[in-house]
Amino acid sequence: MHGPLVAIWRPTPGDCTLPFMIGIFSAIALLEAIMTVARKMLGYMENASWIRKMFEEGARLKSIHGKDRVYDFSLGNPDVPPPKKVLDTMTALPPAMFHGYMPNAGYPEVRELVAGHVSDIYKVTLKAEDIIMSCGAGAGLNVVLKSILDPGDEVLAISPYFVEYKFYVENHGGILVSIPSDEAFLPSIEALSRAMNDRTKAIIINSPNNPTGRVYPEDILKRLKELLDDYPRVIVISDEPYRAIVYDDMAVPSVLGIIPNSVVVTSASKELSLAGDRIGYIAISPHINQKRELEGALILATRILGFVNAPALMQKVLAGCLNERVDVSIYKRRRDVMRSIFDEIGLSYAPPEGAFYLFVRSPIEDDLAFCNALVAERILAVPGRGFGRGGYVRFAYCVDESIIEAAAPGIKRAVENICKS
Ligand code: PLP
Repeated sequence: MHGPLVAIWRPTPGDCTLPFMIGIFSAIALLEAIMTVARKMLGYMENASWIRKMFEEGARLKSIHGKDRVYDFSLGNPDVPPPKKVLDTMTALPPAMFHGYMPNAGYPEVRELVAGHVSDIYKVTLKAEDIIMSCGAGAGLNVVLKSILDPGDEVLAISPYFVEYKFYVENHGGILVSIPSDEAFLPSIEALSRAMNDRTKAIIINSPNNPTGRVYPEDILKRLKELLDDYPRVIVISDEPYRAIVYDDMAVPSVLGIIPNSVVVTSASKELSLAGDRIGYIAISPHINQKRELEGALILATRILGFVNAPALMQKVLAGCLNERVDVSIYKRRRDVMRSIFDEIGLSYAPPEGAFYLFVRSPIEDDLAFCNALVAERILAVPGRGFGRGGYVRFAYCVDESIIEAAAPGIKRAVENICKS
């Protein structure tokens, strides 16, 4: 690569180009010699996440202006308390409980109870062996991807999507292919169909969705199933940590009941506000191809990715609280306040039917510029480009209603200012 540069260079007296270039190359060589961190990770860290960047900006603003004067809508970190029964179950666990290693898939009796619960809500019959306990949905997704991907396999994700998917897919040698949703932020079966090829291995869907709050209707899932009838090796990975956080009696269709070649990955992070406790599970469709081999692969992946097994205490807590969920009415009230703010300002959005995010159209195409205008008002939100869809901004309403109301004048000013400039 350096050859042509040297070939066309003709030194003249006093020309310092050569020593200068030698200096640069030596510096690069020296830097490489001491480079402990992988180049790939350095690249990831550079572009890592707008959410993280906003989080850091928030910490900076809070240190200057005080916590109460910064309106932070950047993180999907649940602030609604876990249900009382969850807290009671945590403290009531027997002190003599066994804390040693267990089967990598989790306690057999916990898997049995979870299988019964999943069978009830998805209207399919699962057995204990169809459940693999995991350290939250993030770990569950990695375990599934590790189990199914060979290098170069493609995974389709519907944009806008949860920012970590790309990292997770690449962790296991896969390639994430971003497929734009339709105008209403629902999967476009036509677009998915066009993207399918011999390398396609999985489609990740996420409903209720982060960042849009949309719930995918049954007819779209049925059409997805029809598409996949022609691709028996492709599985649907349904990422559902927000399943129980829905509004206005919205029903979330059963992926396991509609798509035979599917797995559900979920957690208690959002539904029980237990994000720090890292507990969730993978539920495998009883009709999936190569079911026995897949179960074996998921168990081995849990072990060799170093998770070993989901936390013992939290498995017991989850098993005792399967029908519990946080008070969704709190999120619903906040969603309605958010909606009324954006309706008044005149910014459009697809109404969130679940989760706790509102993905609003930026008043100008440059979503980052809009986020910066919001930061000037001490308001933190995440540019849509971080989710693979520029021109939008995500507001996470995991904050008190009073904060949402207090932020309203600043949001309005930011819109006015950005439209003037
Ligand atoms: N999937 C989606 C869509 C999410 O929004 C999140 C967390 O924000 C996760 C997965 C990861 O959740 P967990 O805490 O269970 O790993």
